[in-house]
Amino acid sequence: MARQAVPASEHEHSWQTRSSHHTSTGIVQYLQCLTCKTQQMRQIGFDCQVPKASKEIRA
Ligand SMILES: [Zn+2]
Repeated sequence: MARQAVPASEHEHSWQTRSSHHTSTGIVQYLQCLTCKTQQMRQIGFDCQVPKASKEIRA
């Protein structure tokens, strides 16, 4: 799935949760944009903080 129909910079990402996992340090969510298929990992800690800055993962 290396195809990108739309450049990531030209639209608002429409993140969809692909999966989420509970880990020892919090919850890890894997998101994917429905438009450009960019994937994002988001980690949410147990210490009641807002989600940390997320990283985009590009294959
Ligand atoms: Zn996108």
